[in-house]
Amino acid sequence: MSRRDYYEILGIARDAEQDVIKKAYRKLAIQFHPDKNPGNKEAEEKFKEAAGAYEILSDPQKRAQYDRFGHDAFRGGGGGGFHDAEDIFSHFGDIFGDLFGGGGQQQRRRSRNEPRRGADLRYVTEISLKEVISGIEREIEFDTEENCKECKGTGAEKGSQPITCPTCHGSGQVVRSQGFFAMASTCPTCHGQGTTVKDPCKPCKGKGRVASHRKIRLNIPAGVDTGTRLRVATEGEGGYMGGPAGDLYVEIRVKPHPHFERRGEDLFAELSVPYVQMLLGAEIEVPTVTGKEKLELPKGTHPGAAVKLQGQGLPSLRGSRRGDIYFQVNVQFPEKLNKDEEKLLREIAKSRNLDVAGESGLFGRKK
Ligand SMILES: [Zn+2]
Ligand SMILES: [Zn+2]
Repeated sequence: MSRRDYYEILGIARDAEQDVIKKAYRKLAIQFHPDKNPGNKEAEEKFKEAAGAYEILSDPQKRAQYDRFGHDAFRGGGGGGFHDAEDIFSHFGDIFGDLFGGGGQQQRRRSRNEPRRGADLRYVTEISLKEVISGIEREIEFDTEENCKECKGTGAEKGSQPITCPTCHGSGQVVRSQGFFAMASTCPTCHGQGTTVKDPCKPCKGKGRVASHRKIRLNIPAGVDTGTRLRVATEGEGGYMGGPAGDLYVEIRVKPHPHFERRGEDLFAELSVPYVQMLLGAEIEVPTVTGKEKLELPKGTHPGAAVKLQGQGLPSLRGSRRGDIYFQVNVQFPEKLNKDEEKLLREIAKSRNLDVAGESGLFGRKK
């Protein structure tokens, strides 16, 4: 299940000042406090949820991170990790003062025609490993819908008002009998709205909603990985009846690279090196994601060893240090030895007391 938006939890605007955030949280904490709702699991969850939201939004730095990355900003700990009421009060107790025990609140019934937040949208975009290093600005285009400005979402023509639906008498549901059962379903006349319009608004044809084509420029920061979600606040579906817009979540997919395999901020690649360079050590030129670099191969490098090229990996999303590239070294033998090479190798074999085949390729002892 996806987690609820922190602003939505506290019921505040995205640009709410600190004192508004504090007030909103205090209100919820009082309303859902376990002492006032003994044994009520739902209230307890709401109480914790509000504390989690307040923890992030009351801290300007965490709030900025959340605005940018959504819940992903705190993946692996950080957000809303409270266990019980005591834990929460020891954290934020000071904001309650002696106000505790204030008047109970009536749960308000939510009408279908009340302002409602628009849906969040998901957009997937693919980038290359090279773009992960540099970060990239990308223009994205998509279609969604928003509240009709002409009728403010009511669907009724200017100057007229929606009327109570004559089919369902405002309940938004009709009850039909099917055999022994009575089934409630959404009213076909008003589509569950409970109201209908006599003179439909022209731009939206009475629907209260209009299509919206969006084109936005998005900064994809360096260091993102497949699965990173970037939140663009209020660029989702428009709100209903003047409610706030949803958010747009842009999900990143990083295209696989033909040579480099990613593990976090490090990259891995295979590299074939002539056996002489492996034995003697060498400085060799190796490919990186963006170009070429010199790699120092230590003397006596064994086949399969991983040699590190420092700082040529990927940048970290939240830090400044870049990862490394590890080259797994494979031994490369010449296709064929020339006369001089063979002579030298035979001398090496002799000095190491190693039995080797004769020049004709036959084994010496069997000759
Ligand atoms: Zn309209
Ligand atoms: Zn109806």
